[in-house]
Amino acid sequence: MAMQRSAAVIGGSLGGLFAANLLLRAGWDVHVYERAAEELEGRGAGIVTHPELFDVLRDAGVVVDDSLGVKVTQRVTLDHSGHRLAECELPQTLTAWSRLYSALRTALPDSRYHTGKQLVAFSDDGAAVHARFSDGQAVRADLLVAADGIRSTIRQHLLPQVKPMYAGYLAWRGLVEESALSAQALRDVFPYFAFGLPAQEQMIAYPVAGANNAVAPGRRRYNFVWYRPASQAQLTDMLTDGDGKVWPEGIPPPLIRTEVLDGARQAARAVLAPQFAEVVEKTGALLFQPIYDLESPQLAFGRIALIGDAAFVARPHCGMGVTKAAADAAALADALASPGDDIAAGLRRFESQRLAFGARVVGHARELGAYLEATAQGRDNSAQAHDRSPKNVMLRTAVPMT
Ligand SMILES: Cc1cc2nc3c(=O)[nH]c(=O)nc-3n(C[C@H](O)[C@H](O)[C@H](O)COP(=O)(O)OP(=O)(O)OC[C@H]3O[C@@H](n4cnc5c(N)ncnc54)[C@H](O)[C@@H]3O)c2cc1C
Repeated sequence: MAMQRSAAVIGGSLGGLFAANLLLRAGWDVHVYERAAEELEGRGAGIVTHPELFDVLRDAGVVVDDSLGVKVTQRVTLDHSGHRLAECELPQTLTAWSRLYSALRTALPDSRYHTGKQLVAFSDDGAAVHARFSDGQAVRADLLVAADGIRSTIRQHLLPQVKPMYAGYLAWRGLVEESALSAQALRDVFPYFAFGLPAQEQMIAYPVAGANNAVAPGRRRYNFVWYRPASQAQLTDMLTDGDGKVWPEGIPPPLIRTEVLDGARQAARAVLAPQFAEVVEKTGALLFQPIYDLESPQLAFGRIALIGDAAFVARPHCGMGVTKAAADAAALADALASPGDDIAAGLRRFESQRLAFGARVVGHARELGAYLEATAQGRDNSAQAHDRSPKNVMLRTAVPMT
């Protein structure tokens, strides 16, 4: 009988949980190590889904039913005064990061999920991988899965030349309670995947589950992502807290200066349709995230594999981050399906499947966001103007990539 194979998954967010659940169901002895001391519940906001995501969720042990998200059937674009400019049919399920996290976390036994475990060192001696954590614990496994996100410790060691590249714009994000919205916003935007296309900016918004993952009418939330150009100097200022400390890798939302938040609300009133400005105004925990591109030229390193955001980060215009992390995990589990498989050879098969796809998603998202980036860098963006008709933007944003 073959010995049970063991895997250490670094990072306990969505990518890590997909990998752990799939490997567990394929017979692996798998453990997840997450640096955060607490469970990650409550992090993140809305997530666009694609059919492929549901297939992987089922394989990962999650019950896929109507409670997973909010269904919309139409996309609409509003003009600056709040009138409908264009519409199209595009059925889609919108969910929330916390809904997916709790479903995947529930599918994994508690004894296999370890919080407060920050990976600080690792090695691959050919026969096994060894990982060491900041609390001194060391583990040995047959496979090391790097699901540790855009600032991956593992990738930084293996591919020090690969760094997130700031795209020249950022996304303001937030969630507002359905019950807090006016009748006008509930009628004009809440039921839809809604777009606003002010010059050199983009607003997208859609309904998602509310507190405790509620999807019943009245208890849902409205999620928005509002892209705005910002030069590197403007970004650095926004990443500076009230004590003058700069947070280059992302400022914790409670530390965003009041004047920065007030500036965003003021800009929302000036440039967005009134329904969207209301959504921004009524969002309690307004936050922003700089937008990055990240591309790895290699995903397999002996017994070590990079997946999810540790491998590739595409600008969010494709809405593919979570689906790509899920599909990476599925390809990894498939490539190592047979207990007799040589792990390094299996990881090379995984890499040959996922490398080109990751690069393609990054390239497509870069193209979709090019006009924002060009504006931030002061270049003429008229060449992209034909791409920015409301119909075209609605039909190309956050749709499945085969
Ligand atoms: C503005 C914006 C909008 C987005 N919208 C969408 C969308 O609509 N649809 C979509 O699919 N995706 C979207 N995404 C992307 C999506 O959030 C990610 O792609 C997805 O969550 C996959 O992440 P991951 O699990 O690979 O990494 P992460 O979620 O970043 O998780 C990495 C984990 O590793 C842990 N970690 C890091 N270092 C260590 C260490 N040394 N030791 C132990 N643990 C460690 C971290 O604490 C973290 O929990 C969006 C992203 C942004 C910025």
